[in-house]
Amino acid sequence: MSATPELIFRSDMTVELVRAAARDEDVVFAARVSTAGEQTLETVNDDAAQSTGLINFLMRDRHGSPFEHNSFTFYVQAPIFVFREFMRHRIASYNEESGRYREMRPVFYVPGPERKLKQVGKAGAYRFEDGTPEQFALVDENVREVCAAAFESYQSMLNAGVAREVARIVLPLNLYSSMYVTMNARSLMNFLSLRTARENTKFPSFPQREIEMVAEQMEAEFERLMPLTYAAFNANGRVAP
Ligand SMILES: Cc1cc2nc3c(=O)[nH]c(=O)nc-3n(C[C@H](O)[C@H](O)[C@H](O)COP(=O)(O)OP(=O)(O)OC[C@H]3O[C@@H](n4cnc5c(N)ncnc54)[C@H](O)[C@@H]3O)c2cc1C
Repeated sequence: MSATPELIFRSDMTVELVRAAARDEDVVFAARVSTAGEQTLETVNDDAAQSTGLINFLMRDRHGSPFEHNSFTFYVQAPIFVFREFMRHRIASYNEESGRYREMRPVFYVPGPERKLKQVGKAGAYRFEDGTPEQFALVDENVREVCAAAFESYQSMLNAGVAREVARIVLPLNLYSSMYVTMNARSLMNFLSLRTARENTKFPSFPQREIEMVAEQMEAEFERLMPLTYAAFNANGRVAP
């Protein structure tokens, strides 16, 4: 019989850029091949202002395919309920840790004090407001209690020789999982347009805060690696081309 490991409660998300081949030049290169053929490679860096203008034009007129010739691979740790939303984004490649092949670690999400707890407004356009200290304590206490009970059940079934894939069914959606996800900039912009709430958007979205916490970290890497594309994305209402 193995000893029950100590439960860990987290309120943050991990996003690490593992690998990237992503530059604004790749967008310009791909776009110019349609008019300049094989000479494009030499002309990519000729005129920065022209490149900026071209990227902006592509974004504005939604010529999307030049934004596909690049790649971002992220390692993400987030609760399973976030992964459920994340994996709805089909234009990406995923590999996630397995609850069948390894024992799940007792790492659970609990909302931090800055997480707004009260939902107001109409469906599809909710606003969230701070919870009272009593509401926060209630959430915190219930999350911890349920996770402890669920993990104890999980362990007792494992200890009794029940298969991991069966025992895991009692674990809650706030259990952390981990995955690699690879996307290109076009798909990433689609993801960011839907999974961040911003005022300067043409089509405002109202994502769950926890997936937005992941998206914000991905966005920072996108901005760092493809600053012209990122600027054009924002200047054109954060609409994926
Ligand atoms: C705020 C919010 C609330 C949501 N609520 C719900 C909900 O209540 N229930 C629910 O089920 N989902 C919900 N979703 C998920 C949503 O419907 C999408 O599945 C998710 O956002 C992925 O978007 P996507 O299809 O554009 O992304 P991707 O799958 O990455 O696709 C990118 C683009 O590729 C194209 N594409 C991909 N696959 C196809 C296809 N099969 N046919 C045609 N074009 C395709 C589309 O142009 C698409 O925009 C919600 C999403 C958000 C942001």
